[in-house]
Amino acid sequence: MVEVIEIADGVYAFAQFLKENDISVSCFLIQDEKQVIIETGTISLAKSFLSRMAGLGPLDKTSHIFVTHEHQDHFGGLPEFISEAYNAQVVAHKNITAQLAFSGIVGRNLLVEGGEAFRIGKRTLRIYHAPIETKGTIVFLLEPDGILFTGDYFGQLSKGGWSPYPQVPENVFIHNIVAFHQALGYQQKDFTKYLSPLKKKDLHFIAPSHGSMTNESVPQVFEKVIKAKLGKGEKGGLWQRIFSSR
Ligand SMILES: [Zn+2]
Repeated sequence: MVEVIEIADGVYAFAQFLKENDISVSCFLIQDEKQVIIETGTISLAKSFLSRMAGLGPLDKTSHIFVTHEHQDHFGGLPEFISEAYNAQVVAHKNITAQLAFSGIVGRNLLVEGGEAFRIGKRTLRIYHAPIETKGTIVFLLEPDGILFTGDYFGQLSKGGWSPYPQVPENVFIHNIVAFHQALGYQQKDFTKYLSPLKKKDLHFIAPSHGSMTNESVPQVFEKVIKAKLGKGEKGGLWQRIFSSR
């Protein structure tokens, strides 16, 4: 069952917990003067996400669908999404052009490099290139809300079920994020390089595509996570176990 949480006025998170994998998959809807979607989840989850989104407003009004990167649990649902949100442009990093084409997503793509900003009414969604997970990974900052949509970064496994906000003390929450990053084979120096510029921004909320979101002590949590020492992890090992499609 997809859970829907309004995280700010007109900003919704949709999450489905996959029991067999101890992981949740999320996507997001922003309704301002424009309506945009962030992430699509997997192809098998797309219909459930779309039916809940449709309950909040007509999907053909969606102007853009933003995806963080080319892995199946983030952009796999695109073919389903664009058949409902058929007026939308797909916004993705230029380095994933080939993956979009192989998935049949051609013709309405808006390829970015990082540094772009999209006005969606009173709000702006800024794009940052953060090639830690893949060469084509981007994250999105919604201003002035200070909501950072991070894709796999700041994700966690959710043993026993998804909760919108952490049910554990802050140090355990940070530990769970760092363990997730480590299992994905990330390097600490990449976090410093690509995510440090965001420290200067007014961050109020971190919304990953897996696990709980957080709106408490966000600058401190952000700083601790991006500075955390990461041991050697096997790149992709976690994903091979969870979504064998990688
Ligand atoms: Zn993922």
